[in-house]
Amino acid sequence: MPELPEVETTLRGIEAYVDGKTLTNAIVRNSSLRWPVPVHDIEKLCGQTVQRIERRAKYILIHLETACILLHLGMSGSLRVLDTNEPAGKHDHIDLEFEASHVVRLNDPRRFGCCLILKEPVYEHRLLANLGPEPLSDAFNFERLFRLSRGKTQAVKNFIMDNKVVVGVGNIYASESLYKAAIRPTTAAKRLSKARYKVLSDEIVAVLSKAIRAGGTTLNDFTQTDGKPGYFAQELQVYGRDGEPCNQCSELIQSKVIGQRNTFFCRICQKP
Ligand SMILES: [Zn+2]
Repeated sequence: MPELPEVETTLRGIEAYVDGKTLTNAIVRNSSLRWPVPVHDIEKLCGQTVQRIERRAKYILIHLETACILLHLGMSGSLRVLDTNEPAGKHDHIDLEFEASHVVRLNDPRRFGCCLILKEPVYEHRLLANLGPEPLSDAFNFERLFRLSRGKTQAVKNFIMDNKVVVGVGNIYASESLYKAAIRPTTAAKRLSKARYKVLSDEIVAVLSKAIRAGGTTLNDFTQTDGKPGYFAQELQVYGRDGEPCNQCSELIQSKVIGQRNTFFCRICQKP
């Protein structure tokens, strides 16, 4: 599943081809994504110029003159920038054509992604209204984590994956940042001190930033016809490594299902 770093890299990969450009055509080959794609509403936007493009949580927002196109990559989606003549493949569901010269093409084999049209006020849309701060913004800090965690008995891993607390900390990066912060993922959120939340918030920022930097090396992939951008080559310390030795202490990494998600940790290095 694309997580925040992949979506941020996608944004950076396509923005030069979208920002300030005119939407000249829109082709919807399959409107059965997570929610029905509003084909006519998208077509009505043709002729409008993109005012700006941004990422909010894992959504990509393309702001046009009278409305905003919201894209989400779901479990398996990706966007590429291609020549308008490039033939579409089986899972290429949507083309947004800009300046009649290139298309931004949504490919999504599992179709859990979405493409919706948002009217003003855009940020009051139900998908955006209750989102917490961006992890790489000043609004995200350990004081906020500490304050919101008081009285919370839920596991700290679930707590930091709650979009109302902070957006974009997905399963991989939650496991990795808790390992770096030496915090056991099952620990009740309310048990952690302010000092440990300071370490944790710093590690969340560091882990996500590192992944985004790794993604920077893949930016050219967004304009290539074969293959598609995937997960970035990076060294994961615990995620997917159950049964393998911890890089710090050699104890075997364990996995446990928390909140229906596989969670990986070292029982020696990560304290409750
Ligand atoms: Zn260890």
